[in-house]
Amino acid sequence: MRPEPRELQELVRDLHRQATPWLPAGTASRLDWGPPVQPGPGRSEALVLSTARLDRIVEHNPGDFTVTVQAGTPLAVLQEELAHHRQWLTLDWPWGTAEAPAVSGEAGLGAGSVGGLVARGLAGGYRQRYLGVRDQLIGIGLLRADGTAARAGGKVVKNVAGYDLMRLLCGSWGSLALITEVTLRTQPLPPQRRGLWLHGPLERLQPLTRWLLSSSLSPERIDWHRRTLPAAMETAGATGLLISLASISPQTLAEQIACIRQQADAAGVGSETLEPERLEAHLELGRGAAMPRPAWLLGAGVLPSRVGELLQARELGGVSAVIGAGSGLGQLWATAAQLPAYKVEALRRRCRELGGHLTVLRQPPGPAAAAVPAWLDAPSRPLIEAVKRQFDPKQQLARGRLPGVQAPQ
Ligand SMILES: Cc1cc2nc3c(=O)[nH]c(=O)nc-3n(C[C@H](O)[C@H](O)[C@H](O)COP(=O)(O)OP(=O)(O)OC[C@H]3O[C@@H](n4cnc5c(N)ncnc54)[C@H](O)[C@@H]3O)c2cc1C
Repeated sequence: MRPEPRELQELVRDLHRQATPWLPAGTASRLDWGPPVQPGPGRSEALVLSTARLDRIVEHNPGDFTVTVQAGTPLAVLQEELAHHRQWLTLDWPWGTAEAPAVSGEAGLGAGSVGGLVARGLAGGYRQRYLGVRDQLIGIGLLRADGTAARAGGKVVKNVAGYDLMRLLCGSWGSLALITEVTLRTQPLPPQRRGLWLHGPLERLQPLTRWLLSSSLSPERIDWHRRTLPAAMETAGATGLLISLASISPQTLAEQIACIRQQADAAGVGSETLEPERLEAHLELGRGAAMPRPAWLLGAGVLPSRVGELLQARELGGVSAVIGAGSGLGQLWATAAQLPAYKVEALRRRCRELGGHLTVLRQPPGPAAAAVPAWLDAPSRPLIEAVKRQFDPKQQLARGRLPGVQAPQ
């Protein structure tokens, strides 16, 4: 269902009166990722309520560096609008966005909506410098399961204190409420951006990464890449480090690059400077441009100090991976042949040993009995379930898909 904004509240109230299960959606680009949603009695598929018609940029205050948009606004449209004012939302294109997305037509929908981005709460390598989507959020408008409209946060960067509803909704996967509007902080677009590709044996790259993370340099991203480049582009081994640097001054940029290359030379690590176009090509490969719909897509996180151990894990085999060096968070992907389900279980155990977690975003279709749970129970499961009962007493929203609660097999 794609209701007009004025029809939305009444529709949600109706669904509540009838206790109909439904799934909040943006452009429906990645609805199937994560645990399957139970459709409810008498239905073969869940009723999907899309915010596609809530697609207006409500207010952009370039001077305050804030923007308010309706939830269904495509991310590509928002970035294009901000770029007219030399600003941007400091987030990566979501994984699976094959190439720098066009703003109009179907192509622009591949990067999803702003509401979907917030609902999933995932972030990429820009987190190193700019933090994640939850940190860009300063206000949110929502409809609760019973149709009650609510707001949290505000429209200015300096905000009131109180219960942090915004960040509760960020990463809620559509399970708590329908996000209708968000206010986000924006940043000036960096006029200069260049990249560095460092490659060599892991034992040499690791100390270099530690130096980089503790240095006074301020890269926008320092991402471990494993098996992301086509074989012909691989310079030495399957692992490399992608760094991007941004500055208002070309001289500062050149100095930072020279400093890192000098350190790399001393460590016996190969380095290659990437002009903006080549940097973008590496970024595309790191968000799955070569395999936009892999059979397996996993979200992984380990302690940043233990990323090296994950990259060397036996279970990783032919899997491709991009993991933030500073955050330890990233994505792994593979074909069904490269990664049998039992290895995913083993990888999950390995991530847990390394102080983290593994989320199965996508897995090959097959008998439900063979399915690997998208996520396991979090220690706070009782609290999460109590919050769910408060927001959605009739268990209507995204039934069976509650982050931190393992779905019954
Ligand atoms: C670097 C990066 C990597 C990412 N990687 C992944 C990834 O691997 N897998 C992934 O799924 N996402 C990933 N994301 C998040 C991705 O941005 C969103 O999944 C995508 O934007 C969804 O867009 P959509 O509008 O098509 O949402 P949909 O596909 O329609 O919905 C996505 C999810 O959000 C919920 N939702 C959508 N709109 C609303 C709303 N208005 N109110 C409440 N809930 C809503 C849905 O119920 C569903 O759970 C990533 C983001 C970044 C920045």
